[in-house]
Amino acid sequence: MQHMSEWIDIAAQFIGFPLSEDRLRLFEIYESELIEWNTRFNLTAIKNPDEIRTKHFLDSLSCVLAINDINGRSLVDVGTGAGFPGIPLKIVFPDLKLTLVDSVGKKLVFCQHIIDRLSLTDCRIIHARAEDLGKDPLHRERYDIAVARAVTGLSALSELLLPLVKRKGIMIAQKGETATEELKTAEKAIRILGGGEIQLIPVTIPNAAEQRYLIRIEKQRNTPSGYPRRPDQIRKKPID
Ligand code: SAH
Repeated sequence: MQHMSEWIDIAAQFIGFPLSEDRLRLFEIYESELIEWNTRFNLTAIKNPDEIRTKHFLDSLSCVLAINDINGRSLVDVGTGAGFPGIPLKIVFPDLKLTLVDSVGKKLVFCQHIIDRLSLTDCRIIHARAEDLGKDPLHRERYDIAVARAVTGLSALSELLLPLVKRKGIMIAQKGETATEELKTAEKAIRILGGGEIQLIPVTIPNAAEQRYLIRIEKQRNTPSGYPRRPDQIRKKPID
């Protein structure tokens, strides 16, 4: 297994940002807690340290490749699960204003535990469906950045993320090989929901075989008031 001090150098080079000893320590704690909790609750399918560092930590950090100026921004991670990509981003950029959202409470118990263990400030955790937050004036069009990994197809995902983003803010969808295809079928939805410029950014994660993509969408106009629709409507009939 690779030593954590070697890994942190790879991570720093990957994101083009220096990472200090204390950041390394935070990733070490996150990793060991994830392994520990995973033996009791089924938090994630990825269980060995090398894979955690590559497929969870580096893959989460890849989001910075789509963000120009991250420090001090408000970021909402929709369907965060065990904290990905939100918590690794917060570890590296402590001034980020982080909101983690999931509809499943048990995953958020773990996220809260990590936030406490790592003494991360300016984080909040919300147990809700993104569809409801998108209609709530406290959350609708309130975030600079909305991100999600492994939650749903791009059309439905845009309906969850874009309503939360301020004008001129961005949404980022982390995707695998299906990115190009998903983008084709989601373009109309993205326009309807207020999306503007779309970028497909290929990402090569060090030591990982799979080709990854970031789909970065700027919010150009406010989302029309009929969106997001109800969960069953989004699921049964994504905008096409
Ligand atoms: N982003 C994490 C977890 C992916 S699993 C990772 O990449 O590792 C998908 C997560 O999204 C689950 O925890 C599920 O509960 C959550 N989720 C799915 N639909 C959601 C919705 N509409 N609102 C909020 N959370 C949702």
